[in-house]
Amino acid sequence: MVLIRAGFVHPAGRRGYLTIGGSVLQGTQGKTLLLLKPRGFCAGVVRAIDVVRIALEAFGPPIYVRKEIVHNSFVVDELRAKGAIFVDSEDEVPNGERVIYSAHGVSPEVREHSRRRGLRVVDATCPLVTKVHVEAVKFAKEGYSLILIGHRDHDEVIGTLGEAPLVTQVVGNPEQVKSLSVPDPDRVAYLTQTTLSLDETKDIIAALKLKFPNIKGPAAQDICYATENRQVAVKHVASEADLLLVVGSENSSNSNRLVEVARNLGTNSHLIDSYKDIEPDWLVGAKTIALTAGASAPECLVEETVKFLSTKGFDNVQELEVMPENVRFGLPPEIVEAIAAAPAGATAD
Ligand code: SF4
Repeated sequence: MVLIRAGFVHPAGRRGYLTIGGSVLQGTQGKTLLLLKPRGFCAGVVRAIDVVRIALEAFGPPIYVRKEIVHNSFVVDELRAKGAIFVDSEDEVPNGERVIYSAHGVSPEVREHSRRRGLRVVDATCPLVTKVHVEAVKFAKEGYSLILIGHRDHDEVIGTLGEAPLVTQVVGNPEQVKSLSVPDPDRVAYLTQTTLSLDETKDIIAALKLKFPNIKGPAAQDICYATENRQVAVKHVASEADLLLVVGSENSSNSNRLVEVARNLGTNSHLIDSYKDIEPDWLVGAKTIALTAGASAPECLVEETVKFLSTKGFDNVQELEVMPENVRFGLPPEIVEAIAAAPAGATAD
C-alpha cells in the first residue's frame, strides 16, 4: 500500500499548503483536513460523461439519456444545461432519435425495445458492469440458479437481473439468504453489484456458502476497483478523523457505502451533495476532518468543500494517497467514429 501524507508541498518547500481552485490555502496552526486519494470520478464515470459531452458536440441536440448518466445531481444538471434530455425510459424517446444508456447498464429488454423503436443507441455502460452481465448470461446458460447480491431498486441491479430474470434472485443482506429456495442447491452461482460495501458483501457471501456449500462465484470479484479503493482509503483514515465527509449524491450507492464504512468504524460521517449541506453542529469539537468523494462526484465540489472548511479553521490540509489509481476505459465505437469524422480541432477535450 502506498501512502503519501502531506502531498502538498509549497514551491518554497514549506508544508501545509494546498493550491486548490486557483487559490492557496495555508495553515500549520489550524485544524486538520485530511483529503483522501483516490477519491471522486472513476474511469466508468469519466467515460460516461465524455460520451454525453462528445455526443452533444458531434451530433448536436437532441441527445436523450436514459436515466441519470451517473448518480450525481451536479453532473446531471450540468449536462442538462448543455442540451442533454434525461428520461426515465426509452419509451419517452421519439422514434429514430439518439439515446445514451447510462453507466449503470440496461437489461436486454431495454435494448430490444430500443431496437424496435429504431433508436440510435450509444452505450455508456461501464465495462465493469458489462462484465457482470456477461457472467450472468454465462452462468444462466450453464444451468445455474443465480443469486445477485445488491440493492433491488438500483439501476445496475435492474439491468443485470434482466439478463436472466427467470433464474435470478436478488439478496441485500445475510437474513434474506435464509429464505432462498432453488431447484438444485449444487448448481447455484452468485454475482454482485459493483458498488457494494466490501465487508457486508463478504458477510452475505459467507451466508451463501453456508447454505450452498458448492456455490460458484465470479472469477474475480464484481465489486469494482474504484469502490474498493475508496473504501480502503476511508478505512485507513477513519480512526484519525473526528468527522468524515463524503461528497456524493443521495442516490449514489458507492458514496453511501463510504459513509457506512466510516460509521461502522465508529467515526461520525455524513454524505453531502456540496459544502452547503454541512451543518454547523457537525464541526463542533472536531479537530480533524477527513474528506473524500464518491465515484460520481466531481472534483470541483471537493475543492469548494476544502475552501469552505478552511474558512472554519480546517486550513492544515494534508492529502493522503492510500494507493495510486490510473484506470482508463476506451470510448464506445459510435463516439470514436464521431470523433474521427469531426473536422480538425472540433473534438471535445
Ligand atoms: S463505480 Fe465502478 S462499476 Fe461504477 S462506473 Fe465506476 S468503475 Fe464502473
